Amino acid sequence: IKNIRKYTVGIDKKVLLHNNKRVNYINFDNAASTPTLVPVLDKMNEFLEWYSNIHRGTGYKSKISTIAYEEAHDIVADFVGSDKNKNTVIFVKNTTEAINKLSYRFPLNKDDIVITTIMEHHSNDLPWRRKAKLLHTNICQDGRLDLEDLENKLKKYKGKVKLVTVTGASNVTGYINNIHYIASLAHRYGAKIMVDGAQLVPHRKVNMSGYKDDDYIDFLVFSAHKMYAPFGTGVLIGPKKFFQRGDPEYVGGGTIISVTQYNSYWADLPDKDEAGTPNIVGGIALAKVIKILNEIGMDNIKKHEKKLTEHIIKKLKEIPSVNIYSSINENIEDMVGVISFNVNGIPHNLLASVLAYEGGIGVRNGCFCAHPYIHKLLNLSSREISRLQKDLIMGNTKNIPGLVRVSFGMYNTIEEVNKFIKVLNLLVSNKKNMLKKYKYNKITG
Ligand code: PMP
Repeated sequence: IKNIRKYTVGIDKKVLLHNNKRVNYINFDNAASTPTLVPVLDKMNEFLEWYSNIHRGTGYKSKISTIAYEEAHDIVADFVGSDKNKNTVIFVKNTTEAINKLSYRFPLNKDDIVITTIMEHHSNDLPWRRKAKLLHTNICQDGRLDLEDLENKLKKYKGKVKLVTVTGASNVTGYINNIHYIASLAHRYGAKIMVDGAQLVPHRKVNMSGYKDDDYIDFLVFSAHKMYAPFGTGVLIGPKKFFQRGDPEYVGGGTIISVTQYNSYWADLPDKDEAGTPNIVGGIALAKVIKILNEIGMDNIKKHEKKLTEHIIKKLKEIPSVNIYSSINENIEDMVGVISFNVNGIPHNLLASVLAYEGGIGVRNGCFCAHPYIHKLLNLSSREISRLQKDLIMGNTKNIPGLVRVSFGMYNTIEEVNKFIKVLNLLVSNKKNMLKKYKYNKITG
């Protein structure tokens, strides 16, 4: 972990502050995307010399590209404990595409039920709305998933519920869901489970095969750009038997073994579901980053990020005007390093911008593509929600509710957390002046 910092691209870049001082940039926005690692970039550059389209080429470069790209699928499968005989790994663009693909491939009638949750990223909610009747599992007072509500829904609609789709970890509160318990529940009531692993896979060891007979994960999706590889590669894993049935949503080159003027036969998996020339370099990059994560050890990553999370929460709690939206106590084990908060009297958009202007600290603010969850966490009434929706549609973003989010990567340090707390304290204790200095404008707005 100590050395990983110097292998993280662009992480010690200096940025210019409002007062013309240059400081090291602090990136606390890893839940959005993580910086790439130098060995991953090196691997991509090395691979580009062997760059060639895969599969039917007979040339040396094409053979090497094909082997490397296919091997990348196996490396991904092993990383998340997926049984290579049972499951297929399909490379797509990102988590969003993976979920949309599954929603297309999943056989659902209009009156079938999919159960998602209130705490989902929109990418694990909207694709299902147009496919089936979608029910949302509630959250408890502390923002954690209400597992009793989930079981009640499964019981009540037994036979109708075909899929439970749930995030592995929240991109708002960092809460980790007990995906194996949820898998057992889903299977007990005859449904399958899909886990959105976008925020979980980069931070915890995931084991799709489970630990008991019935707690395996049927489908898993995640994105390479949240785990130290570049944009453009996402993963969808699921049973071969499932993807062998039905037609892929995109058809064309690569997806077939034979076409006549009148018919066609699908290729084996995963080719059937990876239409056209795939992102070969992206697949190589993901395989490389997985090798590095394995070398570091996911347990070491967990330990380090847990330390950062405990520290920041302890420090945030010492500032009276700060409200944290994850309840942390003995359950610190149940969260990844994603912490959302607000400061009384400082709008979230202003606060996030001022952290950048005064401290060179990159955070994120707003509703993080999880509007229903934020509405609940902020206890907004249905009246307030419809008012907010109207405002957003009218482009009036000045007073919209939201949170500020800090999210850690494995290269972040306690010193960075201390610097963040120092700047935050400065802002909080000079609230009046800060509000005057940075009054709402186009930049800070
Ligand atoms: N699910 C979760 C939990 C996420 O945090 C994100 C990214 N913020 C996504 C899905 C979507 O990922 P992508 O943008 O890579 O499709």
